[in-house]
Amino acid sequence: MSGFAHFVTHLECTASGEAYPAGEIHNLSAAGKPLFVRYDLTALKAHLTKDALQNRKGGFWRYREFLPLKSSENMVSFDEGVTPLVSCPNMAAKFGLQDGNRLLIKDESRFPTGSFKARGLSVAISMAKELGIKRIAMPTNGNAGGALSAYASRAGIESFIFCPELTPEVNVQEMVIQGAKVFHVNGYISDCGRIVGEGKEKMGWFDASTLKEPYRVEGKKTTGIEIAEQLGWELPDVILYPAGGGTCLIGMWKAFLELQEIGWISGELPRMVAVQSAGCAPIVKAYEEGKMESEPWENAATGAAGIRVPVVLGDFIILGLIRDSNGFAIAVSEEDINSARLEMGKIEGFHMCPEGAATYAAYKQALEDGRIGKDEQVVIFNTGSGLKYPIKVDVPFIDCTQSIDYDQIAGA
Ligand SMILES: *Cc1c(COP(=O)(O)O)cnc(C)c1O
Repeated sequence: MSGFAHFVTHLECTASGEAYPAGEIHNLSAAGKPLFVRYDLTALKAHLTKDALQNRKGGFWRYREFLPLKSSENMVSFDEGVTPLVSCPNMAAKFGLQDGNRLLIKDESRFPTGSFKARGLSVAISMAKELGIKRIAMPTNGNAGGALSAYASRAGIESFIFCPELTPEVNVQEMVIQGAKVFHVNGYISDCGRIVGEGKEKMGWFDASTLKEPYRVEGKKTTGIEIAEQLGWELPDVILYPAGGGTCLIGMWKAFLELQEIGWISGELPRMVAVQSAGCAPIVKAYEEGKMESEPWENAATGAAGIRVPVVLGDFIILGLIRDSNGFAIAVSEEDINSARLEMGKIEGFHMCPEGAATYAAYKQALEDGRIGKDEQVVIFNTGSGLKYPIKVDVPFIDCTQSIDYDQIAGA
């Protein structure tokens, strides 16, 4: 059997609600806004039970009824697993939380290519294969390109990737190794996006930029279903997410609404929190000014490359779900990101990427200012592997040709 039970009805403009047919290649709507995939959730509910799901093996493709792919033959996958919700018992002791399960790290670093971009790109590339796309282009700050190159090569699709100068070199090398055509660009991710947009006719590219194609969000949606399933279909009180383009925040919220509609979850949904660096915080600025749209951020600068996104296409969706969930947007300083990364490593032995560390820094800030309570169950996100990001810490030197000074070692 090559078919998946398939419940897609149509695609829908996130701004105007205008419907578009499924089964065709789409980028943005006529209004220039992202498209959402819509499903016949009544039929889905009749077809799939929580029990049936429980007996399935594998990672996010276990939730295939909630995904847009029709034929299992087009599934492009590396046998991704389920990513754990890692408890923080030492942090619980430090903050006086009830137990280590009050603070959970959704550890997305365990995916192929070491970041949560795998979810989105696995589904997007599978859909590209199903729709007959042969050439894909994308701007990236690093991890999206890493995942794109891997899944595209596996699918036999050509990938062209444009990286801002500040993209961590390890990501760029990774894309080359995984078979992409990669270019350095002396600008921001938005400049790279322009190169893709302006060149796509001439080059015959499909534009896979964040939210400019409809299926990466569907892949990211599986994060929300997975968290719900892992917690026995009881959602946490608060979710803190490092928001660049906000795909996963948008995807999780879409998951929660769909799960609510089929009756798999009930009660209050989590407060959704967008975490940004103070060096690039267009969503936080708009949130604080009570606006539903963001402005381009000038001179964006943060070591957390994944959230260095000065222009946010889905800003109105992010700001809308923050409002609907009673969440908030919060900026953390570069110093706080760095010290949070070191502190999490030291206390809990967990090496977060800078974007992940930003969510931990935001958690601490929000505990202090009272926006999050100690009794609340909170999920923070480690969106990628810390190993992909250089970190500079001084390490003491020992001259092994001399007698060793153990007092110096004891005092280190
Ligand atoms: C891409 C990325 C983000 C931000 O994801 P968006 O979907 O753009 O919000 C956060 N962390 C890491 C490690 C990333 O690679």
